[in-house]
Amino acid sequence: MPDHLNTATLIDYARTAEAKAPGDCACTKTPLDGWQSQPLSLDETQFREIGTLMPEHDPEPTFAEYLPGKISYWSADAPVAPNYFPYNRCGVWECTICGRLYLRYTEGGGYFVDRRIRAVRAALIEDVPL
Ligand SMILES: [Zn+2]
Repeated sequence: MPDHLNTATLIDYARTAEAKAPGDCACTKTPLDGWQSQPLSLDETQFREIGTLMPEHDPEPTFAEYLPGKISYWSADAPVAPNYFPYNRCGVWECTICGRLYLRYTEGGGYFVDRRIRAVRAALIEDVPL
């Protein structure tokens, strides 16, 4: 099982990643500032899971979303609130080439399954209690 990352640690990792990312990695070919279905061009082997935002002692975390104002789930400016859906189901992944951080989770179930990915921007991470 990957390590659980609390919000403070996620912010820390995201800031460090932003400070060192060179900006010329193939992982940024498709804009991933907001949630996207994982592009087929994405090279899976390039990513390494460094942790999870899944709560440690709650197998069924909430489906409530934290979207203040008119912000939508898909927005590039949507807050990253780890206590809320879908962040509470996300793995935290690092691009092994540029060091950027990404969140990934699987949306849906049964007949509808969609693997989604979003780049992490430290400035968007918010520690909002449930
Ligand atoms: Zn990269």
